[in-house]
Amino acid sequence: MNAQKDHEKRFSFEFFPPKTDVGVEKLKKVREEFTKVNPHFFSVTYGAGGSTRDRTYETVLGTQKETGIETAPHLSCVGDTKEQLRDLINDYKEQGIKRIVTLRGDLPSGMGASLGELKYASDLVKFIRDETGDHFHLEVAAYPEMHPQAANMQADLDAFKVKVDAGASSAITQYFYNIDAYKYFIDSCEKMGIDIPIVVGIMPITNYENLVRFSATCGAEIPRWIKARLEGYGDDLDSLKKFGEEVVTGLCEEVLALGAPGLHFYTLNQLEPSLSIWKNLNL
Ligand code: FAD
Repeated sequence: MNAQKDHEKRFSFEFFPPKTDVGVEKLKKVREEFTKVNPHFFSVTYGAGGSTRDRTYETVLGTQKETGIETAPHLSCVGDTKEQLRDLINDYKEQGIKRIVTLRGDLPSGMGASLGELKYASDLVKFIRDETGDHFHLEVAAYPEMHPQAANMQADLDAFKVKVDAGASSAITQYFYNIDAYKYFIDSCEKMGIDIPIVVGIMPITNYENLVRFSATCGAEIPRWIKARLEGYGDDLDSLKKFGEEVVTGLCEEVLALGAPGLHFYTLNQLEPSLSIWKNLNL
């Protein structure tokens, strides 16, 4: 894990673009509080196929302008044409955006008819590099527990290397609670000569049902002992959240001690518990 240790540490918080006026106001307050801890950047998710194109764009520009913190749009290629992508990328460039979280995306069900012109995230990385050279810092996704659609772990690692070779600057992992998966992943990357920073994606634990459902979709294992405890809390949300905060704080401490070059919090537009975990870490 030595190569990862050499990278400068960086911390970031991810939001989704709110749909309602109430959501917009809530996000304003939340990002104001996160601004106080002076993160490296904020990021704003994108609905694959362009379903949040305008909202993501407005949220990115509004967040960067109002907080003064660098803000990165997520951008996915599935379901979008090259022309749509080119327009958006050039708009972002003109607006002073310097970083993009570059993804393939998952099309919502029912949109299967139009898959777009670029098939994989690596195609989008190459496309952005061809269009705009080195202007953007390009983040890509990494999967310590394997992307659920990959044929096998080695095929997924090979696909990750293709993305890196296409011009990715750094990566953010899918969230995980199994640290061994992360250690093996980093080890494999090193053996394959992948030396970009691989920052750990952090998903706080606040709700048992949502976590189980979402983890099944994105292929994140919830270790049996964690699941058993969470299940046992039933309606006692306070105890569940307290336990979740302890577990995730411990995970952050461990990956940082192993040399992880930073943390990226999937905040889901909630101030707590990402901020509590952040404070526990005394960073
Ligand atoms: P890719 O890297 O293209 O990989 C997708 C699959 O194809 C993998 O199984 C891979 O092994 C395989 N593959 C890749 N290249 C090849 C190749 N050349 N040949 C054969 N197989 C290949 N989704 C959203 O819709 N919006 C978001 O804002 C969003 N933000 C995210 C942020 C982070 C940090 C992460 C980790 C995920 C995010 N996602 C988001 C989810 C992501 O879009 C999905 O996980 C999606 O299924 C894969 O995207 P990717 O960029 O990893 O795809």
